[in-house]
Parts: sequence; C-alpha cells; structure tokens
Amino acid sequence: MSEKILVIEDEQKIADLLRRGFTYEGFRVEVCHDGETGLKAARDNPPDLVVLDWMLPGLDGLEVCRRLRAGGALPILMLTAKDSVSDRVKGLDSGADDYLTKPFAFEELLARVRALLRRVRATDETVFRFADLSLNVSTREVLRGERKLDLTTKEFDLLHFFIRHPRQVLTREMIYDRVWGYDFGGESNILEVYIRYLRTKLEAGNEPRLLQTVRGVGYALREE
Ligand code: CA
Repeated sequence: MSEKILVIEDEQKIADLLRRGFTYEGFRVEVCHDGETGLKAARDNPPDLVVLDWMLPGLDGLEVCRRLRAGGALPILMLTAKDSVSDRVKGLDSGADDYLTKPFAFEELLARVRALLRRVRATDETVFRFADLSLNVSTREVLRGERKLDLTTKEFDLLHFFIRHPRQVLTREMIYDRVWGYDFGGESNILEVYIRYLRTKLEAGNEPRLLQTVRGVGYALREE
C-alpha cells in the first residue's frame, strides 16, 4: 500500500503542484486548504506524513503543527516563505521535523519527504509502547506487561497499525485499506473476527481492555 501524504496549503497553485507531483511519484495525496480542515483530515484518516504551510488562514501552520504533534509521532515538514533563523527555530520548536523555504523545487521537497519517511521506517525497528503493551517490530515480540503474546501475522499487523495511532479512532474502511490493503466490500466481518482474536489474547490475563469499539465508526487503542 502506498504511503499517504496530507498537504495543508492554501495557495491553490502550490497545492495543485504538490498533488500532481506526489501522485506521480506513487503517493496517495489528500489536500486541505486550511488548518482546521487539515487537523480534521489528519484525525479522520491518518497520513504517513504531513506537508504543512506556515501561513494559513484561520489556524496558522505553527498552531496546526503543535496540535498534530500532540496527537502522536507523525512526521511533519513545514513550508514557508519566512526565512529568518528565529522563524526556523520556532518552526522546529513547534514540532516540525523539517523545514523548507518557498520558493522550492519539487524535487528538493520530494527528497526531504523521502528522507523523513525513511527515518520513520528506521524507527519502525524499535519498540512501540502503549499502556502496558509493547510491540517490537524487528523481533515481532508483543508483550502485555510481562506476558508474551503469540500473534499471527495479520493480528500483529493489525495491532501494529493501532499502536502507531494510539487514541485515534480508526474507521473500518481505514483499517481494511491499511492492514488488508484492499477492499473487502464493506460487508465483511473479518475485521470484527480479528478484533475478537486480538482482545482474547490481549486480555488473557484479565487485563483491562485496550481495543475499544467506537460504535458505528470503528475502533481505537485507548484505555477505558
Ligand atoms: Ca499560505
């Protein structure tokens, strides 16, 4: 499944350029033209990376960056016309991972996006933790407290997706899209079956539930 980039940029010309460029390079792209819509898009359908303009109508890029950052470890690249050292520092302080000054060449942006995504994949080698749950991507070891969980490949992939997006509501469509990688036609109950398997294993020692049902929407990894 290709990686998804969320572009938050109010200038139509740049937004169009980025949509075309990233699509051509094989990414999935969602474009939003203001901060509020961008934050909602990032919540509703988490991207792998955000390209965020600094000067936006309403909520500005710095504020959007802070709020995105509060939601988890999402790579953020900020675009801006500002170029003073203190502005750079502010941008990086707000949680941006990288910073590119306008005007820029698309190839330059693309190179930085690829570098950021590689960094994220590299950190995939490490361990994700949520509550008393830990998941090691390289050894594929999953622990609930001290208890080792024996998961199938699909159960592991599903839990990996949840633990990369803790506390976020993940819709059924999104989970099928990202974990199974194709459309089950919406009628399938295979996700419910897998959630049940996972819960059984996660709660085998009578631990509190971590995989919550969000009725009519999907599921979220969070404490009750
Ligand atoms: Ca702008």
